[in-house]
Amino acid sequence: MLSRTATASLSVSAVSPNPLKKSLFFFHNSKFLGFNNHLASNPLLNFARLAWNGNKTSRRTESFRAMASAQPLADADALIDSVETFIFDCDGVIWKGDKLISGVPETLDLLRSKGKRLVFVTNNSTKSRKQYGKKFETLGLSVSEEEIFASSFAAAAYLKSIDFPKDKKVYVIGEDGILKELELAGIQYLGGPEDGDKKIELKPGFLMEHDHDVGAVVVGFDRYFNYYKIQYATLCIRENPGCLFIATNRDAVTHLTDAQEWAGGGSMNGAISGSTQREPIVVGKPSTFMMDYLSNKFGIQKSQICMVGDRLDTDILFGQNGGCKTLLVLSGVTTLEMLKSPNNAIQPDFYTNKISDFLSLKTATV
Ligand SMILES: [Mg+2]
Repeated sequence: MLSRTATASLSVSAVSPNPLKKSLFFFHNSKFLGFNNHLASNPLLNFARLAWNGNKTSRRTESFRAMASAQPLADADALIDSVETFIFDCDGVIWKGDKLISGVPETLDLLRSKGKRLVFVTNNSTKSRKQYGKKFETLGLSVSEEEIFASSFAAAAYLKSIDFPKDKKVYVIGEDGILKELELAGIQYLGGPEDGDKKIELKPGFLMEHDHDVGAVVVGFDRYFNYYKIQYATLCIRENPGCLFIATNRDAVTHLTDAQEWAGGGSMNGAISGSTQREPIVVGKPSTFMMDYLSNKFGIQKSQICMVGDRLDTDILFGQNGGCKTLLVLSGVTTLEMLKSPNNAIQPDFYTNKISDFLSLKTATV
């Protein structure tokens, strides 16, 4: 197995409702080093501190040093035998848009027959676990809701994990998946798709009211993003004491059609970062929140997990941040040229064309 040294360090800042007061939290690797705490007496900010610890994988600030180049997957048997759980990204690994990638059902059957636990993780927050379950079913795959982890669920799970106060609400920028997961978690919310048609008509002295009980703003991919939502979220984050800013993901692009790349969840989060001067708590990949959650839920050691994905800066980094083995498949957005580029510092343990290369259990033809 390859040896790899990873270094990650960052400092992140959280701006209090009074923008003149700034609180800094410092981390090196995964160790919390301290912060200038003039805000810790606020209970909402106390869980913000935990949150920031979970946000140590911020893409903007992380440096990653790989000691070895990725190897073509030559011995699938050895990899399968070395782990007990496979975590699969979905788009570009299991399906492309609405089309199943060839050989996927047989590959999943093979892994299940070998007693492997399978988990499916996606940064797409537009659907809930139940809605993703339907998509798997439509594609002829038998996957239970328990095996699916979407960033919509991660947002709700994160809020539960920090005991988000029952009397507080969440303002949602995003689509139906986030609302459904918040509902299942028993968390009050407002916003979401119903704010998609709202417009602001400016006139002298106009002031937008906002709900002062909003304790968190969750931002995910939103095809109906507009200025009303930006202003509402900005007011909540800047004016409600301790209000959290949570991102389901910061993906630069997404694949709404197979004809081109489209602006992803990072664009919505970038707008809110811009107006609030705050960095979000990221709960989707490459943050380790979902990995930690999965590891705790199933009692899995992270060294016994192989993360399989098609993106270097989310999937592979997610696996590496979690201390897992990593396999890049070239059936999605990353090409062999991109992997081998001198500009790419993220090297998975292995790479192969597609997951059905497992079926050969021999040298993959990459
Ligand atoms: Mg993908």
